[in-house]
Amino acid sequence: MPIAGIYGPDDFANRPQGQATSTPSAAAQTGPALPRPSLEWTAEVERATAPIYERLEHVIPPIEWPLIAPAIHAINQLKRARNAVILAHNYQAPEIFHGVADIGGDSLQLAVEATKVKADVIVQCGVHFMAETSKLLNPDKTVLIPDSRAGCSLAASITGADVRLLRERFPGVPVVAYVNTSAEVKAEVDICCTSSNAVQVVESLNAPSVIFLPDRYLATYVASKTDVKIIAWKGACEVHERFTGDELRAFREADPSVQIIAHPECPPDVLAEADFTGSTAHMISWVRERRPRRLVMITECSMADNVRAELPEVEMLRPCNLCPHMRRITLANILESLLTLGEEVTIDPSLAARARRSVERMINLNN
Ligand code: SF4
Repeated sequence: MPIAGIYGPDDFANRPQGQATSTPSAAAQTGPALPRPSLEWTAEVERATAPIYERLEHVIPPIEWPLIAPAIHAINQLKRARNAVILAHNYQAPEIFHGVADIGGDSLQLAVEATKVKADVIVQCGVHFMAETSKLLNPDKTVLIPDSRAGCSLAASITGADVRLLRERFPGVPVVAYVNTSAEVKAEVDICCTSSNAVQVVESLNAPSVIFLPDRYLATYVASKTDVKIIAWKGACEVHERFTGDELRAFREADPSVQIIAHPECPPDVLAEADFTGSTAHMISWVRERRPRRLVMITECSMADNVRAELPEVEMLRPCNLCPHMRRITLANILESLLTLGEEVTIDPSLAARARRSVERMINLNN
């Protein structure tokens, strides 16, 4: 069904001034610093990191490894000293995703998996809303983000006050928030969703209309898959909205046998050209099962490197759109984070309790 309406800040004359916060509250340092490790390329570093390089050899040239490996080795030692676990989103650079992460996946997989580990400290290699979600689901653990400026255009597009204005405009209509939102927004909505379960979550509410925010393109995709009337917000992912249908057609003209898979945060003309549309987790499963000879992944381009490291037989054609926020996380600031226990993510407990409810309601749908 076509989308019922798309609203944004300009549609509310009484909207309070101010933007959504793009970073979580974070303290610079919360614990005693550990001694700074040596970052020299030694025989010991070479030996200890050799199994890691085996996974990365298709995406990192051998000449670069002596520059990267000492930080990877130091981080892996510091993790043990801190009893820490590193969570890395699928969009993190391969040296992080395959080099130091204990758990990799999409934002929700990461937060849920973190509830199962016994670590005291979680280092979130991703953007701020992911660190907040990890803190919501792991309130007793110290959650660190190596650079608290790592934001997200979707999370920054909407505030808790905006959700209240939408509720005034559409009384009684339930509100679904994509997990790419701040804790402040999650606290105002009925339930969260991911790009994997968005249609299921919308339909679980048994309502004729649903407010779906903040991604207008994911909302359009959901509307195309359900009879529920979808009222959307004008947010967009600055990475996925840059892809165009023309780009995809050019790939196909160059090689008609190429397979193209796309994330539902892309505009509709892009999805119309794709062979498969799915979340990052679904895209990865699709590649593992199908193992196409040549593939274009229409999403943040580090994910193509991470998949190629695992499946080198799949040739990736890469229209490379990088997320500048994801790129703020580096081996250097992960190391610093473990050394100093900064920057710690904190959420006001009463707000956290309300935000947690909407995340847990989604998780419980599948249990
Ligand atoms: S890729 Fe898009 S949705 Fe993901 S963090 Fe970057 S801006 Fe946000």
